[in-house]
Amino acid sequence: MLSCNSKQLASIQPHKPYKSKKLIVVLIDGPRWEETWGDSTHQYQPYMASYLRNEGCIFTNFNNLGNTITNPGHCAVLTGNYESLANNGAQLPSYPSLAQTFLQKTQHDSTSAWLITSKDKLEIFKTCLQSSWSNQYMPSVDCGVGGLGTGYRHDSITFLNAMNVLQNSHPDFMFISFRDPDFSAHANDWNGYLEGIKRGDKYVYELFNFLQTDTVYKNQTTFVVTNDHGRHPDNLGGFTSHGDNCSGCKHINLFIAGPDIKKNQIITTFAEQIDLHFTLSHIHGLTNLYSKGKLIPGIFN
Ligand SMILES: [Zn+2]
Ligand SMILES: [Zn+2]
Repeated sequence: MLSCNSKQLASIQPHKPYKSKKLIVVLIDGPRWEETWGDSTHQYQPYMASYLRNEGCIFTNFNNLGNTITNPGHCAVLTGNYESLANNGAQLPSYPSLAQTFLQKTQHDSTSAWLITSKDKLEIFKTCLQSSWSNQYMPSVDCGVGGLGTGYRHDSITFLNAMNVLQNSHPDFMFISFRDPDFSAHANDWNGYLEGIKRGDKYVYELFNFLQTDTVYKNQTTFVVTNDHGRHPDNLGGFTSHGDNCSGCKHINLFIAGPDIKKNQIITTFAEQIDLHFTLSHIHGLTNLYSKGKLIPGIFN
């Protein structure tokens, strides 16, 4: 007999005819809320504050409720599950990432879904342990210096590589992850940390501008900017580290724009990383079976 829980029903019901066909997600590693949207002057993210905000929804209560470190934070966004993954790339996620579910849906080849990341250890999200998905529907990857185990590279390389692939291959899905400001913060480099936030803001602006003007992406692409985790506030250890349950580590940024998403909205209701996964899967008709999140309300046109 067919068992049919509500999560399965959610996945097999025909989804609303959303306009978005493509999905580009940018993850900026580990800024604090207080230097990003929580700073009312927005001095370190002028493009987000003056331009992008008019084009989509900005969340002021978006959270990582799992382990506030890099691989688990990426896992929550990419697979919809909070898992205590090793943070060095030694452990695969249990469930498929958006890259795999996108390829399963479209049946396109591996060049139509990409993971492009400054940190090599994020290459693990090309596959997962789930037996029916392990080494199936694997995306193209460009992670770190030369793949898992080769170390981190500068974000300028990641940005250029991402732009090249977008311009030349127009993939349906791309996940881009920048190592800064996290990388500079761990080195106790305050100015480098702030420069990392500013550089990420500029990269996001240039990516969004390209998607808005490119004939393939225009009017059919959802664009997301988020973080894996925040960092400790000054009275709980300061900007150099992160990883506990303090409000600074949990409170992160989320911006969503696209043809189905309201423009110029500040969303103050609570949402968390796994909800982002569920919502992006819902918009694009991807399987939600493995996502522990729920649909984020109030953002659709
Ligand atoms: Zn991180
Ligand atoms: Zn903390």
